[in-house]
Amino acid sequence: MCERRERAWVSELVEVRPFGEGRALVATGSIPPGTRLIALAHVFVDLPSKYTIQLGEHLHQAGTEEADDFMNHSCAPNVTIDFEALEVRSILPIAAGELVTFDYNICEWDMREPFSCRCGASRCIGEIRGFRHLTAAQRRSLEPYLSPYLRRRLAEGRVPGGGDDDERQVS
Ligand SMILES: [Zn+2]
Repeated sequence: MCERRERAWVSELVEVRPFGEGRALVATGSIPPGTRLIALAHVFVDLPSKYTIQLGEHLHQAGTEEADDFMNHSCAPNVTIDFEALEVRSILPIAAGELVTFDYNICEWDMREPFSCRCGASRCIGEIRGFRHLTAAQRRSLEPYLSPYLRRRLAEGRVPGGGDDDERQVS
């Protein structure tokens, strides 16, 4: 990481709008793939919450009430996180008005607040609970996007068998 960002930088191509019972990040114009949309604030906490992004076992990019806190999950996401630069980038063309989404399982190991996904994607996996709960095939499909932390866990073999057969971990 280069200089420290106190606040997030947010592209004019996205904004937070009312969505359902809350708010969500939406494209304001058409966005080509590979576009930098948000540079996350360099604010970190050691405990996860609904708005944090996991970077290490006890290291999470904090919820700062900025644009990145309002990115919904999708099992067919249109953005991903560059974990080295701590930036959000588009991976698909995004149309104006479309939700900006990423896959929470590329960084979250074991989510404190699991939820039922309603992204509507044909490959929707249903319950979103964190990487540790994915099947081997689901893990493989996320491999290009995984955070360095999850990559490290995989390389060290500190990942249980996959699916629901492993014991629940209290974190
Ligand atoms: Zn889904």
